[in-house]
Amino acid sequence: MNFLEERIVKDGVVKEGNVLKVDSFLNHQMDIKLLDQMGAEFRRRFAGRPINKILTIEASGIGIACVAAQHFDVPVVFAKKSQSINLDGEMYVAEVESFTHKCVNHVIVAKKFLNPDDHVLIIDDFLANGCALQGLIQIVQSAGATVEGIGIAIEKGFQSGGRIIRNLGFQLESLAIVDGMNAETGEIKFRDQSKMAAGSGCIEPKDGEICRSSTLD
Ligand code: 5GP
Repeated sequence: MNFLEERIVKDGVVKEGNVLKVDSFLNHQMDIKLLDQMGAEFRRRFAGRPINKILTIEASGIGIACVAAQHFDVPVVFAKKSQSINLDGEMYVAEVESFTHKCVNHVIVAKKFLNPDDHVLIIDDFLANGCALQGLIQIVQSAGATVEGIGIAIEKGFQSGGRIIRNLGFQLESLAIVDGMNAETGEIKFRDQSKMAAGSGCIEPKDGEICRSSTLD
C-alpha cells in the first residue's frame, strides 16, 4: 500500500451508496503534510510535462491543487460552481452533474485565466463518473489550451470515469484506486497499480454510466 492508501485505510469511512468519507484528512480537515506528499508524487508522475498551470474545481480540489502547485511552481486556477449563470462572453462554462449532490452545476472559468499557450495539469480529490473532470477538460479545450495530465487523489475504479478519461487518451494518474468498498465491514479494496498494463483502462462504459457534460461559451 502507498502512503495515501494507508491513510484511507486508517481514517477513511465507507458510507452506504458507495461514498468514501475522507473529511478528517483530505477534503474538510486537511493534513497538509499528506497533501505535500501527494504534491511531490504528482510532480514525480508528471515529470517532463511542460506544465505551467494547475486547474481544479471548488471546493475540495483547491487545497490539494495549491499544495501541489508548490512542487510545480505554477499558479492555480479553480473553476467555480454555480447553479445559474449569466453568459456574458467573458467566461468558459461547462455543465456538469454532481455525484455527491445529484444536481447539475455550471462550472465557470474566466477567459482571462486560460489561454492557448497554457499547458494544464488538472487536479481533483475524487474521480467517480468523471463528470467534473470532463467539464474541466472541455473548458481547457475551449480555451485552446493543452491538457498535459490529470492528477486525482482517489479514483473509484468501480465507476466509469477512469476508463472514460483514459480511453480519451489523457495521462490520468490516481494516487489511490479503490476497486471496491463494503459499508458493513468498512473493508476497502485497492487496485495494484503496478499491475496496470498500458491500455488496461480501455473498457467501454456500461449503459447509464455516462454523465452529461457540455460546454457553453
Ligand atoms: P464525478 O464527477 O467524477 O462523478 O465525481 C467527482 C466529484 O464527486 C468529486 O469532485 C467529489 O467531490 C465527489 N465525489 C465522488 N465520489 C465521492 C466519494 O465517494 N466521496 C466523496 N467525499 N466525494 C465524492
